[in-house]
Amino acid sequence: SCGICVEKCPFDAIEIINLPQELQDEPVHRYGENAFSLYGLPAPQEGQVTGILGPNGIGKTTAVRILAGELEPNLGRHDEEPGWDEVLEAYRGTELQDYIADVRDGDITIARKPQYVDQIPNSFDGNTRQLLERTDERGVLDDLVERLSLGPVMEQSIDDLSGGELQRVAIAATLARDTDFYFLDEVTPYLDIGQRVTAARLIRELAEEADKSVLVVEHDLAILDLLADTLHVAYGEPGAYGVITSPKSVRNGINEYLSGYLENENMRIRPDPIEFEEHAPRSATHADALVEYPDLTKSYGDGEFSLDIEGGTIRENEVLGIVGPNGIGKSTFAKLLTGNLESDAGDTDLDLDISYKPQYVTIDQHMRVDAFLSSITDQFGSSYWNTEIAQPLQLERIMEQNLSDLSGGERQRVAIAACLSDSADLYLLDEPSAHLDVEQRVQATKAIRRYAEQQDATVLVIDHDIYMMDLLADRLMVFDGEPAVHGRAGQPQPMRDGMNEFLANLEVTFRRDERTSRPRINKPESQLDRQQKSDGEYYYAP
Ligand code: ADP
Ligand code: ADP
Repeated sequence: SCGICVEKCPFDAIEIINLPQELQDEPVHRYGENAFSLYGLPAPQEGQVTGILGPNGIGKTTAVRILAGELEPNLGRHDEEPGWDEVLEAYRGTELQDYIADVRDGDITIARKPQYVDQIPNSFDGNTRQLLERTDERGVLDDLVERLSLGPVMEQSIDDLSGGELQRVAIAATLARDTDFYFLDEVTPYLDIGQRVTAARLIRELAEEADKSVLVVEHDLAILDLLADTLHVAYGEPGAYGVITSPKSVRNGINEYLSGYLENENMRIRPDPIEFEEHAPRSATHADALVEYPDLTKSYGDGEFSLDIEGGTIRENEVLGIVGPNGIGKSTFAKLLTGNLESDAGDTDLDLDISYKPQYVTIDQHMRVDAFLSSITDQFGSSYWNTEIAQPLQLERIMEQNLSDLSGGERQRVAIAACLSDSADLYLLDEPSAHLDVEQRVQATKAIRRYAEQQDATVLVIDHDIYMMDLLADRLMVFDGEPAVHGRAGQPQPMRDGMNEFLANLEVTFRRDERTSRPRINKPESQLDRQQKSDGEYYYAP
């Protein structure tokens, strides 16, 4: 069932009790009889950043294709074509009226950043400079290249860029265009927090200073909060129907989404709230050492990049978070631990079995998900495995699909499951949040923690989603230095010390939302920001 009780289900399969207003109306578009239908559209506004918050598969791309004039909506009458005049009539008197009139007249141009930047190399041959120069219609490229730190990769072939570099190239290429309407589908995957904040500022400036309409989809709530002026919540049944609400304030939109209840719509979208318990920073356990590693150093090539790690201890049965900017040596440390890489000094012959999920998930064999996962563990299909792994990672629905047909978020969930299902001494997850929606992040976080607790497993997690890290980790290892030149890391520390050191490097402070305890980024130089900086409390402020 779809989890939402409505009186008259557009798909007879589902039992229905309370019909949301949106579903009493005609859909904006229905792809065919019993096919996906979309209710409601987001309303882009000049000079503003409009956000959409909701799961994947809920019709966001469909809505954008309509707003771009690429898809003529059929108002649910999939066997006829009502035409733009009738669509305009249907939106008369709404905030979309003028916008739709422009679309009808062919007056809307659009620039968009795709969700899966990993696919850009398949459609472009050439280097970064060639790609970006083609898009620089606003004459702002130099500024974008500088602020997104793309200088060092300008002459590099697009084929050779990392995910984080591709993401920044894609953002620059989109923001450099001169169009009426900009759509950015997820800006944060593979970016570190500093880069996320920079991207958010650039997008805000585009709206405010160039007076453009910008629509963003984003699952990192701290960044969405910073980025958007207004927010539409999207809900429904992925693949069946999607509803896009009227705009809300960003704060209310996020809070209502998390609570599972939309107030204006009088609509429950989820049985349980997503809660950010305001726990004191977790106190580190005093378990035995799983491994003690010595001081480690590693440099690449002729010393273009060098890394110094202070020797430390990973404790049995802890979740150790690893944070720091991109290009600072986190993956190199992971490879030193796994023995995939030899250190220049310091013995890393740790004699540990490590199960590793890399940052860029490349599983794409022609194999079904169930066959792949059952080849990893003989626990596959057991009730324990179903409850602890398959259910929280929402794998049931995709078991029969081929790995090569999965979306980015589906592939991520399968890779997390595969990593945790292997038997190992140490589990290492590199950016498990990438491409997961908010709910999936919370579920994945719970699954990883429960797994660590119940299996006495030791887990290392590298991630840039600060909420996820707070919910996951017992202790924190902080990397800093100069990306691509020199990195260093001290010993793992308690959460409060680790967060303070990490966020002090970034000069970012967080406060708690009064209603939901959700951490929110303070405005730079606001009173709270200055107070917390002088108290040295960047995250767990009282
Ligand atoms: P999102 O962007 O939120 O992930 P989409 O708008 O891409 O969602 O898709 C919503 C639903 O519409 C999906 O179930 C998708 O399979 C379906 N869909 C998308 N395009 C078509 C199409 N041309 N014909 C039929 N169904 C489609
Ligand atoms: P992080 O995981 O923190 O993003 P990495 O450990 O992947 O950082 O990389 C640190 C630096 O080392 C980067 O500048 C990267 O380009 C460089 N680097 C990584 N692997 C190699 C390699 N095999 N040869 C040369 N340089 C490398």
